Amino acid sequence: MSLTPNRIEVGNRTMSVQPLFTEARIKARVAELAAEISQAHGSQENLVILVVLHGALLFAADLVRGLTMPTEIETVRLRSYHGTESTGAVELVGALPSLQGKHVLVVEDIVDTGKSISFLKERLATAGLRSLKVATLLDKPEAHGPETAPDYTGFSIGRNFVIGYGLDLDGRYRNLPYVAELVAL
Ligand code: 5GP
Ligand code: MG
Repeated sequence: MSLTPNRIEVGNRTMSVQPLFTEARIKARVAELAAEISQAHGSQENLVILVVLHGALLFAADLVRGLTMPTEIETVRLRSYHGTESTGAVELVGALPSLQGKHVLVVEDIVDTGKSISFLKERLATAGLRSLKVATLLDKPEAHGPETAPDYTGFSIGRNFVIGYGLDLDGRYRNLPYVAELVAL
């Protein structure tokens, strides 16, 4: 675990970088989730994996390899965050793919305030889906209400900002193979 410094400057604050989930632990949990989703969905019907870019890219790439039903992969890009502060406003970058009549699994990196997922669910509500579920690698249950609780969660965490395994800090650190949290010093 030597890809990151022990400390990162965020604005005018120095944050300590503390490993939270190792590569091995993530791998094991993602395999469990894939098995759970495969069992719940069954192996007959198609499932569209709707990857929320860019954060869920790595999680989705690993997750799909453990799924046993026929799949299609689509992407959607949302924008909501600047640095470690949520701007509150969520927007769709580009168009939604056509998902009429499809079973859809939204794959997210993290559910924090729940604004992004509720925005996306609202947009998908009128798209004629056959079913809609949400899988997230990480969930911050203290930061949102039960109405935005995901159907499948890798790990529940506290409120600290996390990076790695797809999650960024202003575009960096997505390539870390593990997840680390930033703790104020
Ligand atoms: P929400 O709309 O639920 O507040 O936030 C969802 C999005 O904000 C996530 O998809 C992710 O891009 C970003 N986000 C929320 N919390 C974190 C975090 O702790 N670390 C990183 N890197 N991104 C986060
Ligand atoms: Mg994101």
